[in-house]
Amino acid sequence: MSETVLMIQRCNACGEAVFPARYRCPRCGAADSASEAAAGGAVEESTVVRHRVGAQGGGDVYLASVRAEAGPVVIARSDTALREGEAVALVIDTDMRVWARKR
Ligand SMILES: [Zn+2]
Repeated sequence: MSETVLMIQRCNACGEAVFPARYRCPRCGAADSASEAAAGGAVEESTVVRHRVGAQGGGDVYLASVRAEAGPVVIARSDTALREGEAVALVIDTDMRVWARKR
């Protein structure tokens, strides 16, 4: 599976970092922004989803809210359990799913 670094949007008017991308900045309303790499962050909370209605096979899915170094909180999947405070890299796959990878 191909992965690329997760990109976030930063408002050119006020500097607010936004994820997911929006047409207008939620802080100041400007429609002028640039993309930058989120790179990584720290796990704030994590959970595991063990039973999914309608899921085809597959095992547990780990989910974490990650405070990106750039500012926004991103919900990411993980192959493994993550601890609060753990440093992770943030990537996005070809299905546009965000993954937290242990650094
Ligand atoms: Zn703004």
